[in-house]
Amino acid sequence: MKTEIFNSSSPEETCAFAAKWGALLVPGDCVALCGDLGAGKTTFVQGLFAGLGGDSRYQVTSPTYTLLHEYPIKKGDLIHLDLYRLQNFAEVEDLDLNAALDQKGILVIEWGDKFPELAEMMTYKIVFAELAENQRKITITKIRP
Ligand code: ADP
Ligand code: MG
Repeated sequence: MKTEIFNSSSPEETCAFAAKWGALLVPGDCVALCGDLGAGKTTFVQGLFAGLGGDSRYQVTSPTYTLLHEYPIKKGDLIHLDLYRLQNFAEVEDLDLNAALDQKGILVIEWGDKFPELAEMMTYKIVFAELAENQRKITITKIRP
């Protein structure tokens, strides 16, 4: 498994890195974003969206309460989920994520390591660690081709 580490010193740096890194994503990819509240998961998705040619009229916000946001990107859709509030896997199954992937979606899932059942659908796992107020360590592992 290939691992890449990026040390970020600001939200802007996290966004810029995510925009550059995200350019390699293709429809059908599924990215698990892992780390505590405030670690930078949503900030990373904002950068991804920009890097994937997302329309800047859309504002990427935390889907903590709505569970799922869908944004148009150059190729298909960026589907952004947050599992923080979900209690059991049946609620995740209701979201029909495989259908979303089949429809040319790129999936990014905050708290993506919360349900082990989802591990097999992930292509990347990204762990965010808060080292200091503005310092974040971002570790990206490619899980499968
Ligand atoms: P999460 O989605 O993991 O809960 P957010 O992206 O919503 O986290 O929030 C991260 C918070 O940390 C924001 O308030 C952001 O401004 C702040 N922050 C400080 N430094 C960084 C950094 N280097 N990268 C990302 N966010 C940072
Ligand atoms: Mg978030």
